[in-house]
Parts: sequence; C-alpha cells; structure tokens
Amino acid sequence: MSKEEKTIIVFDATELDNFELCTFKWHAFHHRNIRPKHTESYFEKGNLIHYLLELYYKAKQVNELNQEKIEETIELGRIKSLKFDLTLEEVAEHIFQFREYARFYEGENIIPLYIEQPFMVKIYEDEDMIVYISGQPDLIFKYTNTNNIAVMDHKRMQREFPYSPLRNQFLLYATAMKTDTVIVNKVGFQKTKAAKDRFVRTPFVYSQEILDEWKEDAINRAREMVIFEKVQHFPRNRTSCEKFNGCYLQRYCSTKPRAREFLIGTEYIIGKPWDIGEKLEAK
Ligand code: SF4
Repeated sequence: MSKEEKTIIVFDATELDNFELCTFKWHAFHHRNIRPKHTESYFEKGNLIHYLLELYYKAKQVNELNQEKIEETIELGRIKSLKFDLTLEEVAEHIFQFREYARFYEGENIIPLYIEQPFMVKIYEDEDMIVYISGQPDLIFKYTNTNNIAVMDHKRMQREFPYSPLRNQFLLYATAMKTDTVIVNKVGFQKTKAAKDRFVRTPFVYSQEILDEWKEDAINRAREMVIFEKVQHFPRNRTSCEKFNGCYLQRYCSTKPRAREFLIGTEYIIGKPWDIGEKLEAK
C-alpha cells in the first residue's frame, strides 16, 4: 500500500478522553459537532485565567515582566472578559487572583520556552496507518541551570481535586514533548485559603516504561477509531452517562431515535469542528 493510501489518525487528549468515555459521544462531538445550546460557562471562566497567564508568561519569556506589564495584562484581560460569560464580580475575582499569583511567583526560577504553542507529533506508522497526537500545552519551560524541559498545565481550581498522573492529557504532553515531567499548576480560587494553599504545583514524573505503555494503548485506540468509522457504528457506553456532572448528550440519547433530530436547534446546536487552537483544558 502506498503512503497516500494510509489512514491518517490525529487526536488530542480531549478526543481520546471522549473516545474512551463513550464511542457515541466521540462520534456526536467530534464528527457531528453536536454541542449543548448553552455554552458551559465553567469553560469560559477557566479561559480568562488562562488568557492572563498566557500574557504573563509571554512577558516573562522576553524579560519584560514588571508591574507595568502586569497592569497592562490586566487591562487586556478586562477587554477579553467581554467575550466570556462572566459577571463583573467574577472578572474582579480573576483579576484579584491573577495579581496574587504574580506576587506569589514573583522572580520564579523558570525560563518559558513555548506558550500555548500547538503541536502535532507522529507516534506511529505502519503499512496501513499513521497516528499523530496533537495538543496545545499552556507552557513548556525549563528551570535555570538545567536543560531539561517540562510541561506546565494551568488548572483553575474552585475546590481541591486529586489530578491523576494517568490522565491522558498529561501522558500525551509528556510523550509529545519528550519530557518526563508534567507540572499541574493549580490556581486556587478558594476564598478561605491562604495564597500558599491556593497556588500549588503538583509534579508528575514519568518513567519511560509508563510512557511506552500509554503510547501503545493510544495506538490501539487509533486502530479502534478506524474500525468504528469503517463500520459506521458508534456504540453507547451507558456507564458513562452520569460521569463528570452528567453527559450533555443524555437528553439526546434518551429521546426516541426518530425524534432526536428535532433536538438540534432547541437543546443542541451544530457547532464548529473541534479545533486545537480553541481547545479549552478546563476539565
Ligand atoms: S448520554 Fe451516555 S450514551 Fe449518550 S453519549 Fe453521553 S455517555 Fe454516551
């Protein structure tokens, strides 16, 4: 088989998560672009702090991080916030936490290398298929005095959450960036906690064996994706419907098949295709 005839599979961590959660959800979200009619404001809220931190680390990267730059970033954040579904109090809360973050990590010992830089990395090729993984990590950096790079992923926290080192997102980033270290940068919004308990970094350090194991599983998931697409059957995993505050497609799946399409426009919309550049990591 020539290279042109090979099946090319590309997925990011969200697509892989959805595939593993429920094949029908994967199909509905990533092929049919069915979205809830009302945007999840949680994602939008998480995105403002990501935006502020993106500008913050971009300034740090070019050695221009100072109080003036922080104020300029806040002004840009205020303008950007108009695009999000946030109340004035929520915008003020983001700005407060951002100021606190900048104060807490003032002079931190890291060198930003890439900020919100999308990637697509080939992890497998045989005579039938090529598999790429893609993503857009919040920050790739190195500590001063070392050459080892690490990935940092910002997480806006409303309450403590025990992130697992086995999360596809972290393993995918480590594999793609060829690093053993992923740091979860928790930005806590809890009102009752001191800054040292709100701004916490949790490092995950992976052995090569663990990364190889993940890669092997991801390649097999790609094979399964090809099969499901080929037969055009996307089985539902009904044990996942209640997970993560409930799947947004429950109304769709529990409506009788011939009436489902009437839900498009009332409860759901056909949205834009999933785009790595617009990916929201707040999960
Ligand atoms: S509601 Fe349940 S079966 Fe339907 S897509 Fe969501 S997880 Fe799958």
